[in-house]
Amino acid sequence: MKRGRIPCGVYLIFLELRLAEHIRSTGREWRLPPGVYAYAGSARTALFPRILRHLKFVKKIHWHLDLLTTRPTVGVPLVLCTSRPELTECRLIRLVREHCPAAVPVAGFGNSDCPTGCPGHLLRLGSELPATLPERLLAVL
Ligand SMILES: [Zn+2]
Repeated sequence: MKRGRIPCGVYLIFLELRLAEHIRSTGREWRLPPGVYAYAGSARTALFPRILRHLKFVKKIHWHLDLLTTRPTVGVPLVLCTSRPELTECRLIRLVREHCPAAVPVAGFGNSDCPTGCPGHLLRLGSELPATLPERLLAVL
């Protein structure tokens, strides 16, 4: 990465839903039980501003993820990102599932422009963040 340039890249945003959430978007709806989730996204430019936008509580709803990050009962305990060009958001989803076999895709969430047919770019990881998952992911990101 050249100094001063804002990189492109991919990110994983971990979400903690303290309560069950029922969200709707253009004919879709999801009922999400409480627990920890991981969302994979990408930014073709301006990776860090994109992540900071996702962390804002007040914003115009644009992406499926915004439907969760604007809820007062949803926290963001961890964000991982990388500008390695060979990694895509779809590859991040596969990596999380390789390192967390309990991860369950939330069908149709966040993958409307997915080129590889992922079932969803949001995964439910369980009731708590698996203790070793962040370390395992950092080793490969
Ligand atoms: Zn995908």
